[in-house]
Amino acid sequence: MRLLLVEDEARMAALLKKGLAEEGYAVAVAGDGRTGLAMAESNEFDLILLDIMLPGIDGFTIARRLRDGGIHTPILMLTARDAAPDVVRGLDLGADDYLTKPFSFEVLLARIRALLRRGPSAQDVQLTAGPLRLDPAAHQVFREGVQIDLTRTEFLLLEFLMRRTGQVVRRASLIEGVWGYDRDVESNTLDAFIRLLRTKLEGDSGARLIHTVRGVGYVLRAGGEE
Ligand code: CA
Repeated sequence: MRLLLVEDEARMAALLKKGLAEEGYAVAVAGDGRTGLAMAESNEFDLILLDIMLPGIDGFTIARRLRDGGIHTPILMLTARDAAPDVVRGLDLGADDYLTKPFSFEVLLARIRALLRRGPSAQDVQLTAGPLRLDPAAHQVFREGVQIDLTRTEFLLLEFLMRRTGQVVRRASLIEGVWGYDRDVESNTLDAFIRLLRTKLEGDSGARLIHTVRGVGYVLRAGGEE
């Protein structure tokens, strides 16, 4: 497995590279944003570990440029900031997950394994729920016939809920189903993605599709019923 680590703190980069190499990963390191973007655009990696605060081009811009350019390599953002708006911005630009520094190396390994395990969605029939139609094979979502642009993680989350329309899905099940790990996700990651999904799916319509079940999880309801 080939990983790209974009990290400007040389000591951190060296430690991570050494640790990951011991786990069997081939790690290429970029020490600034421009180099990182160029390497990500010109090489095939299985995963990108992307620091946000970088000299040159920041991690947000790199994520956006890669996704805009049709490169869908999983991105795990490494952030020293834990402010929700920053995290939400990173996820909305196409990152798949994030870790707040300092993090334990074991947690990093678990996240990497989980993102690498995630395969493409099952290629089967289209799913529908109320105004929504989701095509797993084409990786497209439509609301009343209008295509909605979702990032990969938003798509997986919606697909998981749509396969269980009308059923309350527990937070742990959603996390396991979308990220592949068991409760080992920063608690507001799921909520941040739900907010992003709601904004994109519900727009100004005022019709709530994804409902919060307090203390339990979320449910997608096809109609306006509670
Ligand atoms: Ca940095």
